[in-house]
Amino acid sequence: MKPHLFQYIRAESTQAAIALLEEFGEDAQILAGGQSLVPTMALRMANPETLIDISAIAELQTIELSDGVLTIGAGCRYVDVLNSDLVAKSAPLLCQAIPYIAHDAIRNRGTIGGSLALADPASELPACMLALDAVIIVESKDGQRKIPAGDFFQGTYFTDLAENELLVAIEMPEIASNQIHKFYEISRRSGDYAISGGAFVLTHEDGCIADARLAYFAVSDCAVLATKAGEALVGNSLSSEIIETVSDIAAGEIEFFADLYNGEAMKKQLTKVLTRRMLTKIHDGMN
Ligand SMILES: Cc1cc2nc3c(=O)[nH]c(=O)nc-3n(C[C@H](O)[C@H](O)[C@H](O)COP(=O)(O)OP(=O)(O)OC[C@H]3O[C@@H](n4cnc5c(N)ncnc54)[C@H](O)[C@@H]3O)c2cc1C
Repeated sequence: MKPHLFQYIRAESTQAAIALLEEFGEDAQILAGGQSLVPTMALRMANPETLIDISAIAELQTIELSDGVLTIGAGCRYVDVLNSDLVAKSAPLLCQAIPYIAHDAIRNRGTIGGSLALADPASELPACMLALDAVIIVESKDGQRKIPAGDFFQGTYFTDLAENELLVAIEMPEIASNQIHKFYEISRRSGDYAISGGAFVLTHEDGCIADARLAYFAVSDCAVLATKAGEALVGNSLSSEIIETVSDIAAGEIEFFADLYNGEAMKKQLTKVLTRRMLTKIHDGMN
């Protein structure tokens, strides 16, 4: 199929894109990498009258580290993030996660902002944002809002982003010397969407876990933080007993949603396996 007739406008700056969003309202949509929006338009599941292309806005494509905070522009493509030495050093979780997203062709065009604005429950990056305790920065004619990732993702393809707001950047704390980032997903084939995936940030002190942010994706209606499982790790070393207990707690606290191919029971079981594997790998790396 072909999309409905639409008007295409290339915005030259963030301010221009925001003004266009204001002008065209609900009839307009932002075009970033187009890797989700264009196929959806071709299927006529999305029929915007106006597309506002932000792919040429250089100020949305910067990556900076300042005072221990890494800021990534929403327009950075997956490949830009993956190839950034700054990201590799400051937020290695993202460099572990991105190779799992689709294939090279999609990673060459798709953007970090597009992934977060879309909020597909099976996407890797929303869970990374939860684990990293990131802040999503959105902007409208009224100024900027900084939204903690935990408040931004609200359901399947549903976020706190208002119609007149542009997602402009993401801020996250730089990894500390006593932190471990770990990403892993279980899928049928490389490049497929995950059946269950995890993004973990663990802080350790004197051989024990001092803080644990265990985020999951492809298991519920949106990315989810397993807070009880994280709390159960605190004050403990990663013994096989604790790993087993925490894997059970994580599988017990998540409200599992089936996808087209995998039921809730399957996702629950795989989440338990995934948690056990991830924590075991972290333990092995610490010793
Ligand atoms: C075959 C295939 C496999 C894929 N596999 C995966 C996968 O394994 N994991 C995964 O995470 N994704 C996967 N994707 C989706 C891909 O990652 C998309 O690129 C991504 O979800 C959207 O990014 P984009 O830059 O292409 O956004 P677009 O498609 O341009 O936009 C997506 C939506 O976000 C809105 N939007 C985009 N940027 C902004 C912004 N800055 N501010 C406000 N709104 C904005 C758009 O208006 C649109 O509604 C796959 C896609 C395909 C086609």
